Amino acid sequence: MSTRRPIVAGNWKMNTTIAEGLALVDAMLPKLQTFDAVDRVVCPPFVSLSAIAERLRGTPIRLGAQNLYAEAKGAFTGEIAPGMLAGLVDYVIIGHSERRQYFGEDDALVNRKVRAALEVGFVPIVCVGESLEQHERGETESFVTSQVRAAFDGIGDLGTVVVAYEPIWAIGTGRAATPEGANATIALIRATVGDQAGAAVASALRIQYGGSVTADNFAAFSAQPDIDGALVGGASLRPDQFTDIVRLAAESVT
Ligand code: PEP
Repeated sequence: MSTRRPIVAGNWKMNTTIAEGLALVDAMLPKLQTFDAVDRVVCPPFVSLSAIAERLRGTPIRLGAQNLYAEAKGAFTGEIAPGMLAGLVDYVIIGHSERRQYFGEDDALVNRKVRAALEVGFVPIVCVGESLEQHERGETESFVTSQVRAAFDGIGDLGTVVVAYEPIWAIGTGRAATPEGANATIALIRATVGDQAGAAVASALRIQYGGSVTADNFAAFSAQPDIDGALVGGASLRPDQFTDIVRLAAESVT
């Protein structure tokens, strides 16, 4: 059995007002606090972070941002610098496919963001994953490994970094990958990081699966040897679903 600690993170995306976010956290907290074998993270929109940080104070639930910018300050209207998030979050999602697809983030920017996050001491959750067309053309392996290489290129110490393998065709579609298929790609990601950073870093690296994870399908993913938790979108907005996914992650290691 893997000694890696599972991590389940909820990506709320552009959902919830501050009041709705607080209500969501309140609904999840009692159960969520009980699953100590798992790192539990919620990633609300930026504007809710302060209020939710306050609500989570003294609990084991950690906060993540959904993005950051790679510069420390300056004329970047609408962007959020890493230092502005310091003391507020522990994690930051980087390179989510929606950022890549709708906001033109490329591998080079993802690499800069990973560096910026590590510099401030955040745990980056770095997202990679292929499109449906790439999947159908059999390009998953080459594409995902190239994304991983680019994301970590030239970074000497990957520190606490987490990777989320999220096939784009599985995100928000209700069509999850097969657990065996996801595990195979995740094992390949681990091997790629091994080539870049060495075997010890690779074997300690936590790699989540993401893409239409629910409480109904997650047990089969968490039973896979290379899958260390989940990045959860839609189901993270449903307290029963999210806490059940965390429970299943806890059961896979206890
Ligand atoms: C995500 O956005 O990272 C995600 C995996 O979404 P969903 O769980 O809704 O597919």
